[in-house]
Amino acid sequence: MENKEPARQDTGPNTPAAPSNFIREIIDEDNRTGRYNGRVHTRFPPEPNGYLHIGHAKSICLNFGLAEDYGGKYNLRFDDTNPIKEEQEYIDAIIQDVRWLGFDWQDRLYYASDYFEQLYQWAVQLIKAGKAYVDHLSAEAMREYRGTLTEPGRESPYRNRSVEENLALFEQMRAGELPDGTCVLRAKIDMASPNLNMRDPVLYRILHAEHPRTGNAWCIYPMYDFAHGQSDSIEGITHSICTLEFEDHRPLYDWLIEQLGIYHPRQIEFARLNLTYTVMSKRRLIRLVQEGYVRGWDDPRMPTLSGLRRRGYPPEAIRAFVEMTGVAKSNSTVEIAMLEYCVRQDLNRRAPRVMGVLRPLRVVLLNYPEGQVEEFEAVNNPEDPAAGTRKVPFSRELYIEQDDFMEDPPDKFYRLAPGREVRLRYAYFIKCVGVVKDEQGNIVEVQCTYDPATRGGDAADGRKVKATLHWVSAAHAVEAEVRLYDHLYTQSNPNDDPEGRDFTALINPRSLEVLTSCRVEPGLAGAAAGARYQFERLGYFVVDPDSDAGRLVFNRTVTLRDEWAKIQKAQQG
Ligand code: ATP
Ligand code: MG
Repeated sequence: MENKEPARQDTGPNTPAAPSNFIREIIDEDNRTGRYNGRVHTRFPPEPNGYLHIGHAKSICLNFGLAEDYGGKYNLRFDDTNPIKEEQEYIDAIIQDVRWLGFDWQDRLYYASDYFEQLYQWAVQLIKAGKAYVDHLSAEAMREYRGTLTEPGRESPYRNRSVEENLALFEQMRAGELPDGTCVLRAKIDMASPNLNMRDPVLYRILHAEHPRTGNAWCIYPMYDFAHGQSDSIEGITHSICTLEFEDHRPLYDWLIEQLGIYHPRQIEFARLNLTYTVMSKRRLIRLVQEGYVRGWDDPRMPTLSGLRRRGYPPEAIRAFVEMTGVAKSNSTVEIAMLEYCVRQDLNRRAPRVMGVLRPLRVVLLNYPEGQVEEFEAVNNPEDPAAGTRKVPFSRELYIEQDDFMEDPPDKFYRLAPGREVRLRYAYFIKCVGVVKDEQGNIVEVQCTYDPATRGGDAADGRKVKATLHWVSAAHAVEAEVRLYDHLYTQSNPNDDPEGRDFTALINPRSLEVLTSCRVEPGLAGAAAGARYQFERLGYFVVDPDSDAGRLVFNRTVTLRDEWAKIQKAQQG
């Protein structure tokens, strides 16, 4: 992992004692030289054309986390410059998700569309300075004129129009007199630049489309590249932290800001977060939703923040994970097991323990009095003494997990089997004395005896058993549906299949398993959506919003197996 340097020694007023990284070093340097008078003001600029994913969480935590650490400010700004793909639903979801991560931008919620008039004026200023022109080349011709990485581009025949002509045409564009695609406004920079972004990039296009915020006020819209840097400038952003793909756009942003003579923020690029078994691109996530591969943006298998929330991931675990991945200058892929590790670490500390049986097998204690009910005291969280204890009812008929019993066990199977004794957690030792089968030969009931001298789970004579099972009392347990999840893809890199298959061909047909006749201890009846528990021996689970008064639905958040430790061991050995 990058960037696990020790905390900084020099502790100026604005120098937090957090692990340093190259972004902090730049900010520290700017604070030393007074470039921004010690101000730190960042922003997160999502385009409202989809839901936020865990990659965005990295950008949010970096931008907002840095501002918080340096006692600065941060803005949430929607880069809403493409009305065709943007929707109010996405705006609302993004606001909810950033709040959920734990950030508060106070009154600094902005929209690039608020700056449309100013951006238009700046375009006029560029035209007047001879730095922008209206081009009538077709999109196809423009692509051809643009050249390639190895060949310079060619100048458009419209490049040397007069300022007056350009002003008149741009006004016509704005007035709605020209159909979509007639012409565009381009910056006049350098068609031979080695940087393709500097070869007279398009600044404005005609788009007769209704905008979620500005309605029909505009029929020309600025390109992202013309809106982004200037929006940062308008808001007085000091450090505009973004992903590496914008590195090649920085010279354009700098050029525009210099031509316009306006306040100049500093852009810093970092490597985007990639995860194994995960597709992050919004274009692809939209396909998963629209083509029905998942149940929606908040499907617990989605890497969206709303999906992770529904899956039961705490926001604190996501923030801890992002911190752990560090800040790098070159792209890499992080193991999804590391994210799951962070979730487990977090839930271990605060999720109450309960007993639930996913695939119930009936157990009858032949020597336990009919109608008798005892209550055993169970520890709510061994990691948190303040969490206290609860009472769990016990009776003659119980359920245990089907795979905790084998009629004819192999050598290494230590759980319940004929003649074998095991412990029921918090309760008694029980011993299997027989099984009952249905007509097909399936075991429908396991018959046992219990030893009253083992009350509480320990034998007075000191004898040991090799297994402790979880259980619920059949008469008291509550029925529940449990949804188990696996990776959404069958291979660790679904983004770039060596055989060239589309990522949808790599979807794991077993990524969701629904169990409808699970049983959980009675204390869980009526648990609220979002409540998280550890089901002993089975993992962490969260109550799904599909639950209601008569129905309890859980999602498994993660199992208890630490795959991350295994991967680390393998990497070291
Ligand atoms: P995608 O590529 O997933 O479709 P995007 O970059 O087009 O996402 P934006 O709404 O433009 O989506 O993203 C807002 C911000 O989030 C950008 O500044 C971008 O740099 C950052 N971001 C997007 N994906 C990641 C990622 N995987 N890791 C870190 N930051 C990211
Ligand atoms: Mg983008």
